[in-house]
Parts: sequence; structure tokens; C-alpha cells
Amino acid sequence: MTLRRRLFARTNALLPGRQSLAGADVLVSGSRIERIAPARTIPSAEADETIDLDGAVLLPGFVDGHCHLELTVTGRDHHVAVHTPPYTSLTQILEQLSRARRDRPKGWLIARSSFGLQHKVHEARLPHRDELDLISPDEPLAVLAGLHVACLNTRAMSVLGLSDPTALPSWIDIDLDAAGPTGAFTEVWDRLPTHSASEVVQSLRRHSRSLFSSLGTTSLSTISTSAEDVRALHRLAKLGELPFRVRFFVHVPRTASLSEVLSWGPESGFGDDMLRFGGVKIFVDGEGATAYGEPKDDTKWSPAELERFVEAADEAGIQVLMHAVTPRAIRLACEVVRSIASRRTLAVRHRIEHGADYVDAEAIPFVAGTPVGLVATPHFVESAGSDAYDFQPLRALIDAGVDVVGASDATGTVPDGVSPMRAIGLAAGRRTAAGAPSPHRISVREGLSMFGEWAAQGVNEDHEKGSIEVGKLADFIIAGRDPLTADPEELAEIAVLSTFVAGERMTGAAR
Ligand SMILES: [Zn+2]
Repeated sequence: MTLRRRLFARTNALLPGRQSLAGADVLVSGSRIERIAPARTIPSAEADETIDLDGAVLLPGFVDGHCHLELTVTGRDHHVAVHTPPYTSLTQILEQLSRARRDRPKGWLIARSSFGLQHKVHEARLPHRDELDLISPDEPLAVLAGLHVACLNTRAMSVLGLSDPTALPSWIDIDLDAAGPTGAFTEVWDRLPTHSASEVVQSLRRHSRSLFSSLGTTSLSTISTSAEDVRALHRLAKLGELPFRVRFFVHVPRTASLSEVLSWGPESGFGDDMLRFGGVKIFVDGEGATAYGEPKDDTKWSPAELERFVEAADEAGIQVLMHAVTPRAIRLACEVVRSIASRRTLAVRHRIEHGADYVDAEAIPFVAGTPVGLVATPHFVESAGSDAYDFQPLRALIDAGVDVVGASDATGTVPDGVSPMRAIGLAAGRRTAAGAPSPHRISVREGLSMFGEWAAQGVNEDHEKGSIEVGKLADFIIAGRDPLTADPEELAEIAVLSTFVAGERMTGAAR
């Protein structure tokens, strides 16, 4: 028998759909919103529990369009954190690695550092293989600078099959000096070891709430990079321990080939309210640059191959998330989707991950006119130092009619969780390099949509999530202040007091 629980909330602001209401009662029955009524008109007696918001604000729970959940939480337990900041020099980072190696003398040592590491340390370069060899002569050692750049020692190069530069695919960048490879590579992260299902379960239990729920995330799409990751998610779902709703996307080819995924059967959306199969994630290009950030064409597909792939997935009802970080790859993904859509009705709306970050201004009408979803990660403006004038043109995209999907893209290479509220503040308060308001600024309300209904729409779940509406899932947060009346610069400071999923409190104390 289903337990019938009712929450009763008096609130002074909320967002039913895209409208703001000053003062309302929300009645939750079981896992869904049953009724929304004017403030203080639903009798307390109708509810088993009443939450009086007492000046706090009820908002829809955040939907994170794209992150690497398993990688982020296992990184916390198994990798060494050497982010910049707090680190400011390679000397400090290498000392930290030496200590970690002494504590853990055998096996892989993997360190997480920040995107653009070479710009953030005094030495203005990446760690060299010789330095890493001194720390770890016999066992593999890798320092990730962001996800797509890895600095390896000699042993790691050989374990990962990277010792022979002539045997590598063209999209992998190998940094060289007079003596040979410096150990810096792009596009090798998917060769690094992953974790067992029980390790992933443990890390999810330890860190899911602090890194995601406590920031207000109630639903997320994750890129699972192994079958063990998927098993871990399923185990926690069976135990009722997932603190947010998860859609997992299988990384092709790392986790499985498309034909393996197709031979298995389920379409996107298979599963239940807490855990669903999302589809597949592919990389059309990769870093789009060398290890040192020089532009590089690292496109991994020919147009014909990509079209065959997306069409086969679409015919099977499987959503394809296409990573593309260069205007060239974004255009290629659009052309492929247009070509398929010209022949048949698409079964699924496919997406371009980072499409809204790296789209060219001139390409906006073409991209906006393509039946494809576009994803943006607002904190890149800060964490990737991408304050270039034409980067992430959210204002123009939204004006062109694109419902941009908001994503944290959490990988563990940005320390601590990446807060959607902060991301919205960054997009709404964006400034030019000279400090003036950026022409790419969006409103806070649009930012809330990016991490709400638009992100839900990005995985065909907007009928269930993304706003506080009758019949939708009772996923919401109680915030200390109304972001709609705050300055964008203040959003990062707004406390998420509690996070509710299916009407149940996942984090925060009872009020
Ligand atoms: Zn990502």
C-alpha cells in the first residue's frame, strides 16, 4: 500500500510554470503536487505535516542537464585534489603528489587539477613526465588538468598504451619537447581506470548529498563511463538511497558500442521516476585544442559515420548526446541532424553538449533552426577562463528561441560541487573583461529555466519536472532568499535550506 503523506507549505514566492506568485499554499500528496492555492487557504488539517516557510522561498528543484556524477564522487575518495586555487605552483602540487605517493606506494595515483592548469601556476606550464617519474618511478601517475588534458609519467603512458606516438589516433594530442613526449596528452581520460560497483556505491553514499542535493539538485543526467557505474546506480535505486533522480547515458565507445546498446532493447526513458536509461553520449570532437590550448581539429567522426550513428540510435528511440566544443563540430552535428530530419520524423530530440558554449555568433540562426537541444555550462566563463567576447552567447541564443539546457558538467576537476544557483548568478551577472555588463547576460528567471524546465525538456521530462505545477513531481528546494529579487552577484550566497525529492526531505533540517 502506498503511504499517503501530505506536506503543506505556506510560501511567499514560488514559480508555477514561469509565473511568480507572492504567497501560496502548496499541497503535496505522496510524490506529486496535488494543489496550489492562495496563501493560507488550504486548512492545516488537510495535511499530515505543515512546513511554514516563514519568509523562505519555495523553488522548483534544480535539474542538472549534464554532469559526471560517478566520476565526481569517486574522485573525492580515490583521487588526490590539487586544484588551482588553492594551489598556486607546480612545486606545491608536486610536493602534494609526493606525499600522496608515499601514503599509497602501489598502483595508480590519479590527481585532479583545474582546467587551464598551465595558466594558473607560477611556472606557467604543465607538470613534465620527468618530474612525475621522480615522484613515481615504477607505478602509474596521472594529473588531470580539466577532464580532457592528462599529464602522465612514463609508467602511466605505457599502461595506457600511449608509448608509441605513431600508433595513436589523430585526435589525441601528444605534447613533445626535444627529448620526446612531455607526458601531456589530450583525450586519454577514457583510458584511465574506473571503479568497482561497490566502490562507486560507497562514494555515492558519501558525497551525493553534499556535492549535489545540498546545492538544490533534484534531478540530473550523468555520463556513466562503465557498466560498474550503472550497477552502482541501480543498487542504490533498489535500496531507495538515491537522493535525486538520475538519467544515465552510456558512453560510446568506452562503456559499450552502439550495436551493443541497440541489441539490448530499451529506449530512452526506460526505468522509473528515480533511475532511467537516458541514451548514449559520444564525442564528436574532444578538447578542440592541444594540451597547451592551441586550436586543434580533433573531430572523431566523418559526416557519413556520424549520420549513420545518429540515425541508427534515433530509429531505436535512443537519444544521442553529442559533445562538440568547436564551431566546426557543432555545425557538423547540426548538419547530420538536419539531414536525418529531412528524410524522417525524428523519434527523439538529440542534443549538442557545450553547443551553447562554443557556438559561433554567425552560426546562431542555423543552429537555432536545427531540431536539436543545446547545452551550456555557465561556470565555464569563470573556471575555464573563457571570458572571450563571443563565448557562450546565451542572450542571442535565447532570443533566437533556443531553450538552453543548463549543466554543471561536474567532473571533479572543479573542486566542491558546482552549484546551479551560482551558475545562474554567473550567467545573469556576466561581465566583459573590462568589467561592464556583458551583452550575453540573461535574466535570473531565464537562468532558473535553464536549470529547471529547459533542462527537463532536454531529456523529455518537462511534463514531470522543472516547475511547481499541479500533477508534477514534488521536487523542490527551500531557499533563504528569492533569487528573482536578488542581484545576480548575490545568487551564489543564497542558501539552499532544504531539498525535497518526491515530497521527501533529502537535505536540510526541518523548519
Ligand atoms: Zn561533460
